[in-house]
Amino acid sequence: MKQLIFDADNTLFDFDCAEEKALVKTLTHFEMSIPQGLIEFYRNMNVKLWQQFDEKSITIAQLKQQRTEKLFKFVGQSTDPSKFSLRYLDELAGCQDLLPGVEQTLQVLSKHCEMAIITNGLSRVQKPRFASSSIQHHFGALVISEELGVAKPDPEIFAHTCEIMGWSDPAKVLMVGDNYRCDIQGAADFGLQTCWFNIRNHTHDFSDHDHEIHHFDELLKVVTL
Ligand SMILES: [Mg+2]
Repeated sequence: MKQLIFDADNTLFDFDCAEEKALVKTLTHFEMSIPQGLIEFYRNMNVKLWQQFDEKSITIAQLKQQRTEKLFKFVGQSTDPSKFSLRYLDELAGCQDLLPGVEQTLQVLSKHCEMAIITNGLSRVQKPRFASSSIQHHFGALVISEELGVAKPDPEIFAHTCEIMGWSDPAKVLMVGDNYRCDIQGAADFGLQTCWFNIRNHTHDFSDHDHEIHHFDELLKVVTL
């Protein structure tokens, strides 16, 4: 059996779509307005906060708090931030849209591969979404950084995942993900093989990865079954 680890957001699940739906639903729920440019603003702000989290300059609690504060400021209205934040996470968890080709490709791979997921996302989103998704039966483990207390690119999270999957040789394991630093460089540092899902077709001169795909189903050419 081949051994594969996947990232979740924007590798298996269509996070951009989920984010937009969840944000609009949450603002609507609290009878708040949806100003022009909201999604763009939110996305830029969120990416920056996650970068700061990745660099360990803010905690996950600070990320959640600052995200809500900045959003309320942009909308020009506010409500109870913790209620808003919880509602948003639950709406996100309810969006299980997969990226194109994921379902069919996993179906083929699952006959020949043992598979796990490592995500730096939040437990409240990842767990229920995964449990009610159509792909959950393919995976032997869902490792969530918030629960482990260690996030990608820390080698410990890759080591932990290999250990619970019973995989003794990291060099035989292929990590697939869209985030170059967390998924690819982190995995390469731990000695895994890597496949970068260059989902946004960035031109680049990166060279730490073994394989590169632009569409999920190209993985079938990378993993020789
Ligand atoms: Mg990702």
